[in-house]
Parts: sequence; structure tokens; C-alpha cells
Amino acid sequence: MTPLDLVKQVAAANDGTVIDEGGNGVRIAVRPTLDSGAPPPTYLIEVSAIGGALRVQECGSHRLPAYCPERHLNSDGSFCLHWAEEEPLGFGTEDDIMLWWGKLLAFLRRQIAVDSLRRWPGKSDARAHGPEAARGQASAERAATALGKRFTSAMDEGRLSTKRSRVAGNKRVRLFLDGRRLTSVDVKTKSVLTLRSRCPCDRQGGRPLPIVACADHAAALATLALSLERWAAAERKFFEFAASCGHECCGSVDGCPLPLPEQAKRQAA
Ligand SMILES: [Zn+2]
Ligand SMILES: [Zn+2]
Repeated sequence: MTPLDLVKQVAAANDGTVIDEGGNGVRIAVRPTLDSGAPPPTYLIEVSAIGGALRVQECGSHRLPAYCPERHLNSDGSFCLHWAEEEPLGFGTEDDIMLWWGKLLAFLRRQIAVDSLRRWPGKSDARAHGPEAARGQASAERAATALGKRFTSAMDEGRLSTKRSRVAGNKRVRLFLDGRRLTSVDVKTKSVLTLRSRCPCDRQGGRPLPIVACADHAAALATLALSLERWAAAERKFFEFAASCGHECCGSVDGCPLPLPEQAKRQAA
């Protein structure tokens, strides 16, 4: 069976109704079951097979904006369901397609949530914008995991931040939790400068240890600070580039860094 045959089969058994097929794709009406029991909206989508992978976009219904990086909708209208570099997916077996279809349903449920929340629900299950940002995010997540639950939840809740500074010609990145400084990292040597201060991890039992003596936490803190910094810088560039290509905010997500369309600007003025 081809990936599209498998898609038809999996879709029909899971919230989808195949409408027709032709050209390169299959058109499907999807009504993702909601936990709340509320009646779900219908998304008309087209799935096509391209280069051994599947591509999906809305086709016929107009529930989603044409482009919105904050909603993980690519500029060609396709859905950004996963990040292939960190999480490669196969499309050859029924299990592969089940996994992929599950991601599609989760994606549509999140779109429904965005309609009312005006933001993407859950920071950790959103991938950063652009490959460089996503690499920074993946590396920051690994470092946070090494430091414990306090750090993974702080990251999930967007409570970690960084600031660049320069001291006597040396570049530093300071890492903050809730605005309170945790440590400083030297950019050139990629090392923590506060090795003797208490490690901010959530080590249980025994006395708190200085960073230098606490497992591999000196390295984890340095990686965390530098990766968060790299992620934020890459996201800024991503949005600058998108704006320079003439992309505008679709107006459905609060705090989107893209410029508003001229009309909206005039109305706001
Ligand atoms: Zn938008
Ligand atoms: Zn520690």
C-alpha cells in the first residue's frame, strides 16, 4: 500500500471522512474529537505524498490563516507537524501513518485552542521557528532535563531568560529564572563563571553543593544559557526575515512579532 492508501484507511477509522482523490492528493474532512465533548469544527484538508514524506494543508474550508508562524502554518500553507531533524518520521507502515495522523489530529485540536486562547497552547510542545532556533531549543531542553524538574517546568512556562553583557571585553550570557540571576557564562570558553556558588538544580538530600561539585551541572548550566540565547537570537532573525519578505501578522495570535497589515495599523492609530 502507498502512504496515501494508508492515510485513507487510518483517517476513515479516526475522525476523518475521505471526500475524493486525484492529482497528487487525497482530500479529507476531519472533525477532531475533543476532550470537552464539544462538537468539533470540520477542517477540509488535502494530503499529498512528496519525496517520500506527507504534506498536508487546509483545502476548501477557511478555518486557518494562510500563513502564521505562531500557529505553525508554513508560508506555502502546509502544516508544520513535527521537526524532521530532531524527530524523523517514517511513512511506510500503518504504524507510521497512525503516528503521523495522531500528530495531525493534535495539531488541529491546538488550532481550535488557539482560536479562543489567542496563543499556542503549551510552550514545550511547540517547536521553535526555523532550524537554527529549533536546534537551540532542543539543546536547551536536554540541558534543562539534566538539571531537573524545576528547570524543565521553568522552561515550559517561559520563566527562563538570558541577557548578553560584556565585561572587560569578554562576552557573557547571564541566565535568569523569574528575573533572578542564576549564573553567568563566558561565551568564548563556554564555561560557568560562578562555579563556587550553590547549584540551582533540585538535588534532593544532603547539603546543597557548589556548581563545580554538583554532577555535570556546570556544563548543563553553560549549555542551557548559551542555547537559550542562541534560540532567542535565531527566532528574532526568523521573524525579521519573514517581515522582510513582506509577511504580515494574521491577527489571530497575541504578541506575534510580525508587523500588522497596513489597514490594521491605520485602525490602531
Ligand atoms: Zn499569525
Ligand atoms: Zn546541581
